[in-house]
Amino acid sequence: MTTATSTTTNVREEAEAWFRENWDPELPLGDWWQRLADSGWGFPAWPEKWFGRGLTSDQVKSVQAARVAVGATGPPSGIGVMMAGPSIVDHGTEEQCKRFLPDMVSGKEIWCQLFSEPGAGSDLAGLQARAVRDGDEWIVNGQKVWTSGAQFSRWGILIARTDVDVPKHEGITYFVIDMDQPGIEVRPLKEMTGGATFNEVFLSDARVPHENVIGEVNRGWSVAVTTLAHERNSLGASGMSAMAGGAMIGENDLTRPAGKPGGGGGEMAGMAAAFGGGGDLIKGLPAAVGRADDKVLRDQVMKIYSLMEIARFTSLRVQAAAAAGRGPGPEVSTGKLLASELVRALRDVGLGALGAHGQLMGEDTPLGGMLQQLALFSPAISIAGGSDQIQRNIIGERVLGLPREPRVDKDLPFADLKVGTQR
Ligand SMILES: Cc1cc2nc3c(=O)[nH]c(=O)nc-3n(C[C@H](O)[C@H](O)[C@H](O)COP(=O)(O)OP(=O)(O)OC[C@H]3O[C@@H](n4cnc5c(N)ncnc54)[C@H](O)[C@@H]3O)c2cc1C
Repeated sequence: MTTATSTTTNVREEAEAWFRENWDPELPLGDWWQRLADSGWGFPAWPEKWFGRGLTSDQVKSVQAARVAVGATGPPSGIGVMMAGPSIVDHGTEEQCKRFLPDMVSGKEIWCQLFSEPGAGSDLAGLQARAVRDGDEWIVNGQKVWTSGAQFSRWGILIARTDVDVPKHEGITYFVIDMDQPGIEVRPLKEMTGGATFNEVFLSDARVPHENVIGEVNRGWSVAVTTLAHERNSLGASGMSAMAGGAMIGENDLTRPAGKPGGGGGEMAGMAAAFGGGGDLIKGLPAAVGRADDKVLRDQVMKIYSLMEIARFTSLRVQAAAAAGRGPGPEVSTGKLLASELVRALRDVGLGALGAHGQLMGEDTPLGGMLQQLALFSPAISIAGGSDQIQRNIIGERVLGLPREPRVDKDLPFADLKVGTQR
């Protein structure tokens, strides 16, 4: 068994041997994901106790290289394994890990994130959804928005206000809520991509058992900070590499053959195509548009590819540090900014290379419409998981030590704040 003390070469050899012996493209995807989860090779940065191997960033990179060399499909991705899982491992009880992780890592259950509200995005701690204790349960009322994948999800990670008489960061509790109940209404929001990745979610007397509180009552902000850091990291480069492995958001078809491409469908298809498969779309762009000898285009593509590799490695480092109990810290904001930069660069270079064809949409257009899809989805990356401006604030204040933004509401009880209309 590999451990963090094994050398990177040993890990690569052991992983590749395992993938060669176990990878079967005809296996149903659900069986393959189960096999990956049980072996620890699916989430090698996670602790050994919870479906991982506790490996370092260099080792994780070598596992990914081994998997790619064998051509094996990656583990499931999405909000469950990228955000909810690490948060539950860090802040949840043993019992909660046992209950929620197995069907998450095997892709059987999909998760969504019920954080943002109409009046609380960048200022997330200003959220107004309320949860009130009722015996062994909590009753939740409020509205969430931009909830990616809510329509497919079995579980949601939810933050709600449980005490209005303390400052806004101090009266929030973090729950795992069952999405399949009468108190939850999911309404899709149509995007300019033509798809509807995210939703409005209305909670009307929705119920959560007390045993689903993650961490302590009124101490949910610290759990949310863990989730947000993992979100930034996953929307940075690791999200991109994860798209190579499976749909970020959407239903998992666990019965399709594991070797059949299906990752990141719908409006995420462009992102998946661009950043999955070892960046083949990027590398192949000059040849695909008949300009393999165009030195300027080749140079632009080389820069994008190099950025992608740097971003991917940065993200692996953060994941491994997190698995070793260190972080993820504010430095993940750098990776997220890098991802925004990358997507914009690929959008501009890609559409420039396609020329007039860049105006066409659909699978029968050049490169299967992937770059056009990516171009339409590109603004999302610099907003989701905290906007570019917010990432810069974090880097400025918590990494560079610049003076903090003035916060007039810091010490006031939430009930006394004079903002919002629903209070
Ligand atoms: C594709 C996508 C998927 C998403 N999925 C989810 C999801 O699954 N679950 C979920 O809970 N949320 C989700 N979100 C919501 C996302 O987290 C928010 O959109 C984001 O945090 C920004 O909040 P907002 O939209 O309310 O913008 P606002 O906070 O209203 O910001 C508006 C503008 O003001 C700027 N701004 C605000 N405050 C400051 C400041 N202090 N300093 C400088 N500039 C500032 C922002 O940068 C932005 O440009 C998703 C968003 C996108 C785009």
